[in-house]
Amino acid sequence: MSERTAERLAIVRERIADAARASGRSPDAVTLVAVTKYVGIEETAALVAAGCHDLGESRPQTLWEKASALADHEVRWHLIGHLQRNKIRRTLPLLSLVHSADSVRLIEALNDEAQAIGRVIPILLEVNTSGEAAKHGFQPSELEPLLPTLSKYDHLSVRGLMTMAAREGGLDVAQRNFASLRELRDRLLPNCPEQISLQELSMGMSGDYETAIREGATIVRVGSALFEDE
Ligand SMILES: *Cc1c(COP(=O)(O)O)cnc(C)c1O
Repeated sequence: MSERTAERLAIVRERIADAARASGRSPDAVTLVAVTKYVGIEETAALVAAGCHDLGESRPQTLWEKASALADHEVRWHLIGHLQRNKIRRTLPLLSLVHSADSVRLIEALNDEAQAIGRVIPILLEVNTSGEAAKHGFQPSELEPLLPTLSKYDHLSVRGLMTMAAREGGLDVAQRNFASLRELRDRLLPNCPEQISLQELSMGMSGDYETAIREGATIVRVGSALFEDE
């Protein structure tokens, strides 16, 4: 089982490197976050043993369980799903990056808790580029007025933007969603407050990570391609 996991990891890494080079960037410019929500502790540990140290979970409870079981492994945990405010206290100390900062209320609560534990927490602002009602995240038009107000949250470090492509429409639509995140970032940059970085673009999953890299992704979140045979 762990051998297959290591093989699939190598294939995904190779495809990431190829897509990065094809868009004129170094393979190091793209971070793979392995999404482990489909598998248990054992396969998650196999992935870490195979050299993948950035792991993502969408449900806080699962992240707690895995972080505790893998406490003696070197893991940088990424929260990629919606975080309810009543789960912040338990989740925050475990995290390297919150991809899913999707409302001002959550941002405020994250900042309060980060301050309480004396840390600065890196976050990405989740943007709903597909317009799908079921998706969390800020509307693209909300970002410009939002950015100047974020400077006051001095226990958060904004590093960039995150999006999920539409479920329907295949690669063409995904590509447009990814391009619109990059274009939004490029439009925001000139007036971006100094403390805020928009460097990171977290976009692309198993079915579309190469497309996302071509559109400028610096972080891809890949789950099923690491655990299922295609
Ligand atoms: C599940 C999930 C992924 C990974 O999806 P795959 O298609 O399995 O690679 C990436 N991002 C988010 C936010 C997810 O919930």
